[in-house]
Amino acid sequence: MKVLVTGGAGFIGSNFIRYILDKHKDWEVINLDKLGYGSNLDNLKGVDEDRYTFVKGDMTDFELISKLVKEVDAIINMAAETHVDRSISNPYSFIESNIIGVYTILEAIRKYNPEINFVHVSTDEVYGDIEKGSFTENDRLMPSSPYSASKAGGDMLVLGWARTYNLDAKITRCTNNYGPYQFPEKLIPKTIIRALNNLKVPIYGRGENVRDWLYVLDHCSGIELVLEKGERREIYNIASNQEKMNIEVVKMILKIMGKSEDLIEFVEDRPGHDVRYSLDASKIRELGWRPKFKFEDGLKETVEWYLNNEWWWKPLINEKVLHPTPWKLKW
Ligand code: NAD
Repeated sequence: MKVLVTGGAGFIGSNFIRYILDKHKDWEVINLDKLGYGSNLDNLKGVDEDRYTFVKGDMTDFELISKLVKEVDAIINMAAETHVDRSISNPYSFIESNIIGVYTILEAIRKYNPEINFVHVSTDEVYGDIEKGSFTENDRLMPSSPYSASKAGGDMLVLGWARTYNLDAKITRCTNNYGPYQFPEKLIPKTIIRALNNLKVPIYGRGENVRDWLYVLDHCSGIELVLEKGERREIYNIASNQEKMNIEVVKMILKIMGKSEDLIEFVEDRPGHDVRYSLDASKIRELGWRPKFKFEDGLKETVEWYLNNEWWWKPLINEKVLHPTPWKLKW
């Protein structure tokens, strides 16, 4: 099988490419990425070059996408603008990648390879927040930020194109990922790096926002299963059902690192900050998926990975990346 992964130089995309090349020795991967600020080809150092090709380009480039779509059996669309804070001060790039980019892929599929196996990777954030209980795939979408609104827009395009043009498209929506190669602006790597340098660790509001945490390799196995066994036009939630308040996550990291909780500093909350995300993942569990990682274990491994791989994150660090309230910055 030959697979096109878009956004493969990002966090989840690069973990996914490593995962599938390792597991399926007869698969080939083309990675299309525009190499935005959070991408890093170092994430893919050491992969089997005989079965892996990198193409630098934008997924809004119809000609390029059309050419690639003709060459492969499957597409996993992971490319997106992903940082909620940046979407607050600079929303347009989110519309470009997360809506026009998805439209471009769908049009190329429809015209040049309508039988292709297409998995579109989305997020729990499209449902908005929920006080009690968990969202199923049939729940309404109620995004709270420009990021989640743009992802919801992309999901709607996939559903509309799939039904009208009878495409073999599926959507996955997963909860917060963590693990190696995550850009240091996100909560877990940022906390590790700041704590390592004895800098204050900022937490929005009172840190009571709840997220479900999924180890990135568990997300990869979920996407792989949907690629192989998912039904046409279906949506699959992926969640580990290990919910934690942000403050709990930060305290766990400080404990693993032997650092004092005095490093914690509460800062002004992000506007529109969702209180709790929660997904019901029964549908993908019925397909046979199970997360392997307990949060405590995955977090320990992640902390160790950042401590042992300073070469990877050090060049990515600047004041903006580690800023306590990045949504206030002009990007
Ligand atoms: P990331 O920001 O690390 O990687 C995204 C990659 O997409 C980057 O390498 C970027 O250069 C590329 N990209 C963006 N726009 C592009 C374009 N127009 N053309 C080509 N490449 C482009 O993000 P991630 O955390 O790896 O997320 C991957 C996917 O998973 C996204 O679709 C995101 O919405 C989804 N997701 C992420 C999480 C999470 O916790 N990280 C949770 C749920 C869903």
